[in-house]
Amino acid sequence: MDWQEIRKKRLTKPIFGWAQRALPTMSATEQEALEAGDVWWEANLFTGDPDWQVLLNTPKPELTSEERAFMDGPVEELCSMLDDWKITWEDGNLSPEVWDFIRQNRFFGMIVPKKYGGLEFSAFAHSEVIRKISSCSATAAVTVMVPNSLGPGELLMQFGTDEQREYWLPRLARGEEIPCFGLTSPEAGSDAASMVDTGVICRGTWKGEEVLGIRLNWHKRYITLSPVATVLGLAFKLRDPEHLLGDEDELGITVALVPTDLPGVVTGRRHLPSFQMFQNGPTKGEDVFIPLDHVIGGEAQVGKGWKMLMSALAAGRGISLPSLSAAAAAFSARTTGAYARIREQFGISIGKFEGVQERMGAIAATAYQLDAARRLTCAGLDSGRKLAVISAIMKAHATERMRQAVNDAMDVHAGKAVIDGPNNYLGNLYRAVPVGITVEGANILTRNLIIFGQGAIRAHPYLLKEMEALEEDDREEALAKFDEAFWAHVGRGLKTAGRAFIRNWSGGLISPSPKAGKASRYYRQLSRRAAGFALLSDFALLTLGGALKRKEMLSARLGDILSELYFLSAALKRWEDEGRQKEDLPLLAYCMDAGLATIDQRFAELFANLPNRLVAALCKVIIQPFGARTRGPKDKITMECAEILMAPSASRDRLTDGLHLGREGGAVAKLEGAFSLSVLTSKAREAMHKARIEDPEAAVASGDITAADAHKITDYRKAVAEVIAVDDFSPEELALHGTQGGRAAGQAQTANF
Ligand SMILES: Cc1cc2nc3c(=O)[nH]c(=O)nc-3n(C[C@H](O)[C@H](O)[C@H](O)COP(=O)(O)OP(=O)(O)OC[C@H]3O[C@@H](n4cnc5c(N)ncnc54)[C@H](O)[C@@H]3O)c2cc1C
Repeated sequence: MDWQEIRKKRLTKPIFGWAQRALPTMSATEQEALEAGDVWWEANLFTGDPDWQVLLNTPKPELTSEERAFMDGPVEELCSMLDDWKITWEDGNLSPEVWDFIRQNRFFGMIVPKKYGGLEFSAFAHSEVIRKISSCSATAAVTVMVPNSLGPGELLMQFGTDEQREYWLPRLARGEEIPCFGLTSPEAGSDAASMVDTGVICRGTWKGEEVLGIRLNWHKRYITLSPVATVLGLAFKLRDPEHLLGDEDELGITVALVPTDLPGVVTGRRHLPSFQMFQNGPTKGEDVFIPLDHVIGGEAQVGKGWKMLMSALAAGRGISLPSLSAAAAAFSARTTGAYARIREQFGISIGKFEGVQERMGAIAATAYQLDAARRLTCAGLDSGRKLAVISAIMKAHATERMRQAVNDAMDVHAGKAVIDGPNNYLGNLYRAVPVGITVEGANILTRNLIIFGQGAIRAHPYLLKEMEALEEDDREEALAKFDEAFWAHVGRGLKTAGRAFIRNWSGGLISPSPKAGKASRYYRQLSRRAAGFALLSDFALLTLGGALKRKEMLSARLGDILSELYFLSAALKRWEDEGRQKEDLPLLAYCMDAGLATIDQRFAELFANLPNRLVAALCKVIIQPFGARTRGPKDKITMECAEILMAPSASRDRLTDGLHLGREGGAVAKLEGAFSLSVLTSKAREAMHKARIEDPEAAVASGDITAADAHKITDYRKAVAEVIAVDDFSPEELALHGTQGGRAAGQAQTANF
């Protein structure tokens, strides 16, 4: 017997038995979710020794000239047509002109290949479009998002038969068909696989002929675009009690296309999601018959619906809500900086108060960070990968950060943002935030269950191999495969422990970094944290095994570390891609200092809560020998970030590039105008301030300013008065809001209280 055989028999065999009990077991749906999608940069982070060149060699996402023309043309025009207040409070819908414009310009076909009449945009271009529209109206953005994410366009492209693609994709791209996707039902929300909607294989009549098909019964809710949809992508559990297809009774979750004009389909009623007016509502079907070829992918895809959904979600989830979140953060940054400059209290701009700067610094850094992560994710998607784990990270963490940025923006604007009306440019965004938090996998679930749960299995170099070996039917084969993966895992574990020890005990000094100028130290710190993360993940999996799935608070913290590592590497990549802009250094520093502090905090929480105290103590000695010493961004850095928002600069432009800055005469346009005048008149106002003169005419008379300056200052004061004004309504107008969906807005008056 050679050494390997002895190892297998004496050591691996008992460990194999233990692992069968300890390692996470997988349900069929979990197995399918794990098989869907690809891993990418997060797998590199999971090694504990990320290869920074892989990150830095990733091409920077760019628009083609065609995509750029679409941004400057149709997207710009669409934005100028959107009046969010009117959409929300007067029409309760996008106007017919906007619907037509969206259809005619193929906004619904951004992901559809050109050969089917779509725009075939890159993930980055798709994201840029969503981002810009989101800066004017969440309702319009969500309307455009849905046909370009789950579907069912993406499902058809990935899994449809040739006939289905030929028929449906051109119609979807041209907007002749409005799609929606129905997964969620009253009983089955987060646990969508527990749906009770059914399909039964049977014979039925279709266009006068008897064919094999499915009789469907469903009740879905919360379905975006359902009230106006002409075709419903439906997920249901398929049964074959008469064995018309084969021997099995239960065929599993299946996805089919259901034209909504079929007898038995009931749609049209609307939900009101956080007062956002995108079309959303329930859909029901009673004994609706469809032929078998309406199953997406035909008979070959019967029962494979869950895997199809997970795979399709991996693409859309990485684009839609992260783009909306990045837009929300950038919009918050732009408007809050401008408002904090022109709004004065106690005789100075509120943006000069440290308390306000604390919030503005955070908003600015979040805007930098979110856009960095959005771009990196798009680059990954554009390399052809379906990023399952990264999409989950982006969905949960981008929307959470959006929530914080919008909250901070609301607090800085105070009453101005609380009072609703056409003059409030933040209130609707604030109301839209919970939609982002809830849809496409609610955040608590995604953070606690999915990110580390899937990440550990998918992105870990050996765990999935070990689990697959345990599932092998042939015991000899299973033991051989497990032996190979397990000992490679042990080897890696020892290397990781050594690496984590050296990097952490040297405070990151002995830690790899590419030559990245002032950012080099951050790479070293991330390499240090990555080593600690890899070690702690292994120990957590080793000591908790399958129980880690139920220990959600521990799993969430490990997921937070992985997510932070992803976001921070994205910030470093952005800094590099943008040519290491010196003026952006405070933004990068803020992101890194805040992110590293979060990582260290999560490490400390894990050490305090891991049930195996010996392992916790050992990991603490290796990873955090001197405790969690990172303190977050210094006040000076926070103030520098806040200042970026308060004055025109290339840095501010980079941060808020690609937003739509308001319709002519709209509230944002007024704010932008007042901000420009503030900059233009700043010297003259300073001169008046020094001379203690309030009246511009008097200042002209005393020679402190010119007549032209006085004119501009008068304009500026008028512009400021318009910006700080809020709306008020008569009681009758408000009663109309309640009863008729709000026509009052059109007659809203502006008052200056
Ligand atoms: C505006 C809007 C649009 C939508 N559009 C669509 C659509 O087009 N198509 C579609 O099919 N669906 C759609 N949905 C449904 C959406 O995906 C679900 O709302 C979501 O999956 C959560 O389900 P639920 O609301 O029933 O919450 P529940 O499942 O009841 O969950 C409640 C809370 O418990 C948490 N939770 C649940 N399980 C766990 C767990 N194991 N661990 C930790 N936390 C957990 C959740 O995170 C959540 O915070 C939409 C929903 C909304 C509100």
